[in-house]
Amino acid sequence: MTTPFSRLSDDDLATCVHCGLCLDACPTFRVTGLETESPRGRIYLMTQWKRGTLPFDEEQVKHIDLCLGCRTCEGVCPSGVPYGRIIEAGRADVEDVRRPSAKRATSRVALRQLLAHPERLRAAGTATRLAQKLHLTSIARSGRMLPPLRAPFRVPAGNVAPAIGERKHRVAFLVGCVMPILYPQSHDAAVKLLQLAGSEVWFPPGERCCGALFAHNGDLQGAEQLRDANMRLYKAGAFDALIVDSAGCGAHLKDFYPELQGRVKDLTEWLAEVGLPEAKRDVKIRLTYQDACHLAHAQKIKKQPRDLMRALPGVEWVEMRHADICCGAAGLYSTLEPEMSNRILQEKLDDVLATNADVLAVANPGCQMQLEAGLKKRGSAMKVEHVAEILARAF
Ligand code: SF4
Ligand code: SF4
Repeated sequence: MTTPFSRLSDDDLATCVHCGLCLDACPTFRVTGLETESPRGRIYLMTQWKRGTLPFDEEQVKHIDLCLGCRTCEGVCPSGVPYGRIIEAGRADVEDVRRPSAKRATSRVALRQLLAHPERLRAAGTATRLAQKLHLTSIARSGRMLPPLRAPFRVPAGNVAPAIGERKHRVAFLVGCVMPILYPQSHDAAVKLLQLAGSEVWFPPGERCCGALFAHNGDLQGAEQLRDANMRLYKAGAFDALIVDSAGCGAHLKDFYPELQGRVKDLTEWLAEVGLPEAKRDVKIRLTYQDACHLAHAQKIKKQPRDLMRALPGVEWVEMRHADICCGAAGLYSTLEPEMSNRILQEKLDDVLATNADVLAVANPGCQMQLEAGLKKRGSAMKVEHVAEILARAF
């Protein structure tokens, strides 16, 4: 049995100087105006629990649960508070001492029993796709946030997609857990772009979920098991970079897989580095972009996706107000905290619709699902596409 609150680091907590500069950037503070729903308030609470100066209280845990883990606070903090590390450790510590809630216990079991097993996830995807086709309402209703499912992403024969033209690099590709089932078209586009950029793409056989959702939900042990299994595969292969087209996974791999040492690259980060050939087609769209929190704040990548998309012929670019504020998706957050998630989403949708764009570009499957469902509910015809799909339109 671990000592209570032993994962939270005193040194990390002490970096907060309580200046409050992060407050207005925090989506939960923005909608509630409450100190307890701010980064500073949450850090204070976790610090007192760790020191034992405030008794642990089940009611107060709500403030930790309501954190999106979006790390917007980290991006604006002048004191360099490692908030992502603090909230992951804090959540794992809290899970040791809290009364288990049925909802959280179910999500933990679902992560361990489903997400960690690609073959089970694929079978669930096939069943849902069939239910959607046959309009089986009970199953379709339980997954009403899901997009219409297509055939899942297929890894090419021999686990390699060759470079188009001269081979300049060899990259590994993270297929991940839900993305190949929910949005296979994003992976198809990403792989095509990599090939066009002269990268041979290797798909490590047996690769599993990276563990991001486990870590974000306080299951650090589950995340470590997946990391160890994946690292064995990565060590067996040779590659210049590991390419990730899902922001949440990319941020997790950069923080949680120290042995990969700087080789994890977001797709747009890599393409901006190695370059794409000249575009072949005019894309003719009015386009806006929602920053994924784990790309903009955790990986500090805002310029590359914008530069790549704005360079496409025929793009009419419109920058969205508050583009780097969270949409409320945040992994399992929209399921675990639907009310707060929806309040944040509604503010976001006002900004999205004000752009009057044809297409909203995103860089993370969770954001895509949340925004697609929200726009549909508002009766908007605006399309939501992954950055890779937008870029692939030009080739
Ligand atoms: S987290 Fe950073 S910005 Fe927020 S109160 Fe602490 S030191 Fe200030
Ligand atoms: S991670 Fe996001 S929701 Fe949580 S405290 Fe920081 S800004 Fe607020």
